[in-house]
Amino acid sequence: MRVTDTTARARNPLAFLEAEIEELKANGLYRRLRVVQSEQRSRCVIDGREVITLSSNNYLGLNTHPRLKAAALEAVQRFGAGSGAVRTIAGTMSLHEELEARLATFKHTEAVLTFQSGFTANTGVIPILAPEGAVIVSDALNHASIIDGIRLTRAERKIFPHSDMEALTTTLREIRKTDAHRTILVITDGVFSMDGDIARLPEIVDAAEAADAIVMVDDAHASGVLGRNGRGSVDHFDLNGRVQVQVGTLSKAIGVLGGYVAGPASLRTVLEHRARPFLFSTSHPPAVAAACLAAIDVLESEPELIERLWQNARHFKTGLERLGFNTGKSETPITPVIVGAGAVAHRFSDRLFEEGVFAMGIGFPTVPEEKSRVRTIVTAEHSREELDTCLGVFERVGRQLAII
Ligand SMILES: *Cc1c(COP(=O)(O)O)cnc(C)c1O
Repeated sequence: MRVTDTTARARNPLAFLEAEIEELKANGLYRRLRVVQSEQRSRCVIDGREVITLSSNNYLGLNTHPRLKAAALEAVQRFGAGSGAVRTIAGTMSLHEELEARLATFKHTEAVLTFQSGFTANTGVIPILAPEGAVIVSDALNHASIIDGIRLTRAERKIFPHSDMEALTTTLREIRKTDAHRTILVITDGVFSMDGDIARLPEIVDAAEAADAIVMVDDAHASGVLGRNGRGSVDHFDLNGRVQVQVGTLSKAIGVLGGYVAGPASLRTVLEHRARPFLFSTSHPPAVAAACLAAIDVLESEPELIERLWQNARHFKTGLERLGFNTGKSETPITPVIVGAGAVAHRFSDRLFEEGVFAMGIGFPTVPEEKSRVRTIVTAEHSREELDTCLGVFERVGRQLAII
């Protein structure tokens, strides 16, 4: 018996997981998830401590908005807790169709198809837009879900340095020179999530038009933040009609969960027939679709939320800069505080948390090691007083750690 026991242990087929955890620890990358124990508002309880959070994507405070909560509760009463199946079998409910029609009107596009998340929207749509033989031209800082979507294709990939318009233009010209008919797909984030800078969309569209390329923008951090009533980066730059495919998320400023692809009706039809996350994964519960519909009502009827978001963003960013922090090239409510080494960023984040401010430390491999940072996101919900409290804590801890 003892021999068998020893053999069983020696052959633990999952032993590599322990080794991986040791490696994470050795590289200073091991972390525990922080647990939110209250509603997620500007002030919330995390790991047993009341803190002001600067880490939520809940830009407009919609995830606790009374109209969204009421819509979700009513949908549960009327339609139940789950949707029962994938969309192509019996999982398309009237609320899903209503949400898509509403989003299409909102985005000024012919049609919209929703997905379970922004992540699955990208992994669903990219293989459709870039069949074998196509070439994808992608910004180096695009989101992980775009990278994974690209990995699912058999298309050729060309990555251009972040927001380098010369490199993009040259790449497109070269591709077109060698093949006049090849499908070219240019993909960019609308707002880049680690630096808070906005894609140079007018130049991207000009370059793409000159090369007869498709443009796809992933507006996860721009939905509800940029453009009229939060319509996104395409509307922000008045490029409606010149960007063929817009991906959005319903999980960030919209306050709920989900992703969508907005574009021509033909795209929606092909996605319905071919996009794998749509075909093989169950649709949103009714409460999610209903809350998203209520969120669009709020975007249209309470534009002051977006106004307040931007006032808060300006106030906080200016405050950090006055204190002497390096905030990089942020142009949006995402403001990185760049500190250098990863260990410093994590120490900074831990100390801020002890002082009642939650802002995540981010290091390699998400950003280059020497540009490790604490990332802050302000929302419409933060009061001036809360933001000033945060600035005071940043100043105190920043001086203690000799960052400023
Ligand atoms: C957050 C994010 C996503 C994923 O959206 P989810 O709805 O959370 O899955 C996709 N793309 C970008 C650029 C993002 O920032």
